[in-house]
Amino acid sequence: MRYVSIKNEYDLKVSTYVTEFIDSEYIYVPINDFKTLIIKSNDYVYKEQELAQDVYAPVSGNILGVQECINAKGHKIQCLVIKNDGKERFKEVSLNKQKFNEYQKEEILTILHKYNLYFLDNIDDTLVINAIEDDIYVANKVMLLEKRTDNILQTIDLLRKALDLPKVYIVLKNNDANSVGKIINNIGRYPQIKLKLVPNYYGLEDNFNLQNFLFNGESNYSFLDVKDIIVIYNLLKKNRLTTKKYITVSGLGVKKPKVINVKFGTLVSDVLKKVELKNDREYEIIINGLVKGKYLNISKMIVTNDLESIFLMPKDNCSVKSCLNCGLCYECCPRNLNPKYLKNLPKIPKEYLERCNGCNLCSYVCPAKINLNLKEDC
Ligand code: SF4
Ligand code: SF4
Repeated sequence: MRYVSIKNEYDLKVSTYVTEFIDSEYIYVPINDFKTLIIKSNDYVYKEQELAQDVYAPVSGNILGVQECINAKGHKIQCLVIKNDGKERFKEVSLNKQKFNEYQKEEILTILHKYNLYFLDNIDDTLVINAIEDDIYVANKVMLLEKRTDNILQTIDLLRKALDLPKVYIVLKNNDANSVGKIINNIGRYPQIKLKLVPNYYGLEDNFNLQNFLFNGESNYSFLDVKDIIVIYNLLKKNRLTTKKYITVSGLGVKKPKVINVKFGTLVSDVLKKVELKNDREYEIIINGLVKGKYLNISKMIVTNDLESIFLMPKDNCSVKSCLNCGLCYECCPRNLNPKYLKNLPKIPKEYLERCNGCNLCSYVCPAKINLNLKEDC
């Protein structure tokens, strides 16, 4: 694999504070199987009350009915609508009697299993916490590391002890100066957690690529995302589900790019009201990063677990032009493919299709904005 770095095309500095937005008037909760629904229209529901199998209310309020929304991939989903009363009322306040650093493995697994979370079940060797963010204009994990440093290190150290793990690493990019500084300043209290810094190469957010880069593909490593660590912390420390997430809103159309802490189920159009737009030009919206993201209509889109970023791009920057034969798509491809040549073939040979990892770097660097991702048509 060839490792490549992406240069910043735009000077977009994400603000260093997190904006809170947890009081949207309506919250939309995706329901996969309406047969498992436990509540009905007009019912009052408490925050974290189970609404259907494995579905919990992110806020308290009244159920209004069902509405079709879309997720971050642009797929239609059926949602329950809750009129948020803004009171964040719980049915019962149950406090954790257990001291955080005294949890045993079985107790931790039991709590996670209650919510169908199984990501700790098969970890018995080295644990790697992947805190890398590939996209240059997304700062969710960087901000999480800065704002929740203690919670993250405390939880990783607890997992190390309770699961009896020989080694635990947290991996960051060496150019994330603020989060690297914050972790370095605090990691001394947890001498068993090792920090690994990696260069600013694109693709290392993917655990498979990271494993190849750090350990030459050896298999006795387990990976967790830094966001999983926060989910575990909230459950063990506060006895609470995670009902909010960080989303980065940036792009040429935004005056001050920022990270917003927002409730699951909030309409994306409501989130955008929290940012100041530059002027009244028309914008296209790219969901989940400039490199891999998609242009989507966000009118009915809600905040789901897989929504990471919203990028506003002026419409005239988005039009597709003819190939300039610049060769950039070939130069950047981590798998040494020539996507422009291959895309022009009547049928792309299977071996090349299999070699492409769908990273979309070729389309991202193309000055003519041609879609070159070989996996896109599969
Ligand atoms: S999407 Fe495929 S062809 Fe394009 S850069 Fe990535 S690996 Fe290469
Ligand atoms: S990067 Fe785009 S413009 Fe340049 S050679 Fe490839 S397809 Fe053509």
